[in-house]
Amino acid sequence: MAIPTLQLPSPITQIFSPLLDARQLQLFIKRDDLIHPVISGNKWRKLKYNLQQAKKEQQSCLLTFGGAWSNHIHATAAAGNYFGFKTIGIIRGESPPTLSATLQDAQDWGMQLHFVNREQYRHKTEADFMAGLRQQFGNFYLLPEGGSNTLAMQGCAEIIDELTEPYDVLCVDCGTGTTLAGVICGNKDQTQVLGFSVLKGGDFLSPQVQSMLDKAHCHYHNWQINKDYHFGGYAKTTPALFEFMETFKLDHGVQLEPVYSGKMFYGIFDLIKKGYFKQGSRILALHGGGLQGLRGYNLD
Ligand SMILES: *Cc1c(COP(=O)(O)O)cnc(C)c1O
Repeated sequence: MAIPTLQLPSPITQIFSPLLDARQLQLFIKRDDLIHPVISGNKWRKLKYNLQQAKKEQQSCLLTFGGAWSNHIHATAAAGNYFGFKTIGIIRGESPPTLSATLQDAQDWGMQLHFVNREQYRHKTEADFMAGLRQQFGNFYLLPEGGSNTLAMQGCAEIIDELTEPYDVLCVDCGTGTTLAGVICGNKDQTQVLGFSVLKGGDFLSPQVQSMLDKAHCHYHNWQINKDYHFGGYAKTTPALFEFMETFKLDHGVQLEPVYSGKMFYGIFDLIKKGYFKQGSRILALHGGGLQGLRGYNLD
């Protein structure tokens, strides 16, 4: 593959609706989904400095973790192929008779897939498990699950550097919270940063984000994480969520996916209806890409 052309800074789209007008709100979308067709969204931002670091350490192999539909696995495999790294994916679950579309792509791009059962997968950050991986695969540059580390956070902070207009609220959907932490860290004005957890029982998330901020010496306090729009848990969906996404696409021409952005935008519109946002606010929501994951849902 050739070195990819990345659309950076990512563009911003304004969304119009009678509801927004009625509440005198302006809603904008930072289109990180348009950065690149494959290495999209925050996954590119999280990989950027890690790839540089791996090169600096003269590592030729990236090893990381994820599930069958993982955006991070998909982006890492593509980036490895583009930038000349071998890639190894430690995949949660038994080896399936047929690969998911995500894993098939990853394998086609040269990623070596290694399946471990859920029990083993749970121990993936422990020293013994890591030692086993080093023994089996030799030297590698380790990317944590979801690509989440301090270098990833630095990459995400650049989302803020790209903004040329002021906003009152920044909305970010959260899995590990790394993107949110990066955005909080990069924040310069008095902007409120509002995360949306896509996990049920996301109580661990705020302390996790706080510890990432502490580690990076960030002392910005105007942020919260909303936990009301997980729709039953990670990757869980409801007909109402799909209906919302479909209407959103028809009304605004922007494709969402049900794991992250669908839930966040559903939450944003629900909060607007409930009068959460101050009249006159300019809201910017980050579209983190991940549209390849849509293939995991049988949509007719
Ligand atoms: C991975 C991903 C997220 C979650 O990012 P975190 O930094 O782990 O919180 C959000 N949106 C999309 C589309 C993603 O692929």
